[in-house]
Amino acid sequence: SLSIGIVGLPNVGKSTLFNALTRNDVLAANYPFATIEPNVGVVGLPDARLGKLAEMFSSQKILPAPVSFVDIAGLVRGASKGQGRGNAFLANIRDASAICQVVRAFSDPNVVHVDGKVSPKDDIETINTELILADLQTIDKAIPRLEKEARANKTRAAALNAAKAAGELLNEGTTLYAGAAKAGIDTSELRELHLLTAKPFLYVFNVDEAELGNNAFLDELRALVAPAEAIFMDAKIESELIDLPEDEAREMLEAIGQPEPGLDQLIRVGFRTLGLQTYLTAGPKEARAWTIQVGATAPEAAGVIHTDFQRGFIKAEIVAFNDLMAAGSMAAAKAAGKVRIEGKDYVMSDGDVVEFRFNV
Ligand code: GDP
Repeated sequence: SLSIGIVGLPNVGKSTLFNALTRNDVLAANYPFATIEPNVGVVGLPDARLGKLAEMFSSQKILPAPVSFVDIAGLVRGASKGQGRGNAFLANIRDASAICQVVRAFSDPNVVHVDGKVSPKDDIETINTELILADLQTIDKAIPRLEKEARANKTRAAALNAAKAAGELLNEGTTLYAGAAKAGIDTSELRELHLLTAKPFLYVFNVDEAELGNNAFLDELRALVAPAEAIFMDAKIESELIDLPEDEAREMLEAIGQPEPGLDQLIRVGFRTLGLQTYLTAGPKEARAWTIQVGATAPEAAGVIHTDFQRGFIKAEIVAFNDLMAAGSMAAAKAAGKVRIEGKDYVMSDGDVVEFRFNV
């Protein structure tokens, strides 16, 4: 399954954040694979709709969509040349489907910065440089092979040209995620190279609690990484929040002017950055969110529950979550004509509440 790799320089708050994420984990019991690797955490996608469905259907269990995070420690300057855990680090990051960089923006003089000063811009550049250098090595190695292939087979010219153009962009210090589209590079031609900087990026700025309401400051940080998404949190506060009873946690959030925990935001943005969405099912056993790619059809969605559901797909009965809530029950939604019958070409919408009909 798809995972989000957490990277960052030492001492920026990665472990603090990762531990808070995984201790927060209501899913550990339901997803035993969550604990296979100490650096992998599977957490639930926060979704208030599930609680409401569970109430309506008297469901015994709530199963949110799982989101996997991998703590990829050990990135230091020179990783692309094998410094630190260099190669292991790069292999780990290659396996992730999106890259989440944690950036230090908090000022605590008691926490040493590896480069001696707190500079989000420099830290982002340091990490980008290592990833860019690793990609350049990959491309330099691939080009002689691609040239040979292109001489033998004209259809390989596109891959060769894309690799050369990507090399130029990277040499200018730009990641493929940030610059490929603008430079007209078809990254689908580069997929076989598993380039690190072609993955989607998102950023967590670990800021002082006092700055969470300082929009000018947050906008400056956001501008450093646009169009990638930026999330702001105080990792230390987040790690304290998860130890509090719910009402006290809510009070603490209110006190620092936050509508929800930063961790919830991170999980949601991470999930979206992976190109994923959910649909919902509900019954007496469970209210559950199922993960699909954005753009998935009804049979593909059925296949996430069971491959037999996809093979034997007949139709889907679908009601939009809001229509179901407005009606008050499934029977009332049906009577009001809000439950649609959809066929095999239907493209799923976020918040579809679904029952599949299939042959076995
Ligand atoms: P890592 O090396 O990136 O995994 O960083 P850690 O999570 O181990 O954090 C390094 C140090 O910074 C620890 O002493 C943390 O307690 C501290 N720290 C982490 N997040 C924050 C924060 O938001 N504010 C402050 N003041 N300290 C933090």
